[in-house]
Amino acid sequence: METERPPLISLVVPLHKEEANLRGFLSSVTSELGKTGCRFELIIVDDGSPDDTWKILSDEARTMSNLHGLRLSRNFGKELALCAGLERSRGDAVIVMDGDGQHPPGLLPEMVRLWRTTGADIVEAVKTKRGPESFSGRMGALLFYVVLNKLAGVNLKGVSDFKLMNRRAVDAWQQMRERNVFFRGMTAWLGFTHVKIPFEVPQRTAGTTSWSFPTRLKLALTGISAFSSLPLQFVTIAGLLFFGFSVLFGIYTLVLQLTGRSVSGFATVILLLLIIGSLLMLSLGIIGEYLARIYEEVKGRPRYVIASSIEPSSPSE
Ligand code: UDP
Ligand code: MG
Repeated sequence: METERPPLISLVVPLHKEEANLRGFLSSVTSELGKTGCRFELIIVDDGSPDDTWKILSDEARTMSNLHGLRLSRNFGKELALCAGLERSRGDAVIVMDGDGQHPPGLLPEMVRLWRTTGADIVEAVKTKRGPESFSGRMGALLFYVVLNKLAGVNLKGVSDFKLMNRRAVDAWQQMRERNVFFRGMTAWLGFTHVKIPFEVPQRTAGTTSWSFPTRLKLALTGISAFSSLPLQFVTIAGLLFFGFSVLFGIYTLVLQLTGRSVSGFATVILLLLIIGSLLMLSLGIIGEYLARIYEEVKGRPRYVIASSIEPSSPSE
């Protein structure tokens, strides 16, 4: 009888300017995945790094038969780099992680063990403590989670992009064809059975974060507009409230007019103009946000463009 081959694990890692971390990262994930007894392939996506990330990757690929490198034609952002990696993964399970040392490779054997013993579709590493971050970064993240939870009912507190998904979950994930990708939210939306592993986010091993305030804000807006149309209903509700208010105020003004007194002044008019003006612009902005998303989807452009790739010779036994 043929002995059953051990399952294949694909490790998908998006990288942007990680030249300083790359060699150490590759050797530690290789040694950790080696402990699992599974076959594995590494799918490393260079998200248009201007530094030597790709060069180092090509160097390392000479000695690693299971390394699959993809180089995107420019910086498309982490979420799209992840898509590129996921689409090429062939494993029975796919693990997604950051390449900056903030997702400890030491957790990999435990994730694989949990997947194999519990049979869960998704094993996710949950942050018990966020890494060292600025106060505004922390507050921004908190605000975003609260808003998303209230609007879309998706609770992302503590959820990270460090997870293992089985083939079924990855295939389902790939059915989501949108261009505005928000990996965390989309996997939460998928459902399936989850098991969690807690972890503390350590410091980056080297380099600096590629996220700036505008990129975080963009991701937050993508997350909110992709998961909820409630902001559009706010526009309707605000309109209704204002309508009610204008009826009351109209009657009041008319009564004053008919009884020979006039509404006191200039201040009222200015205030009304300012309030209505800002409300209108805010509403247009909200509608515009959704319109922009629709436009991006309708154009149907590819999510990312691959400039070059390194094919693996064989997944590790
Ligand atoms: N990353 C990427 N493209 C980007 C920004 C980041 O592929 O445009 C990668 C980065 O190399 C790392 C992961 O995404 O492997 C997480 O990025 P980072 O550590 O900068 O984010 P943070 O940990 O601060 O959320
Ligand atoms: Mg990081």
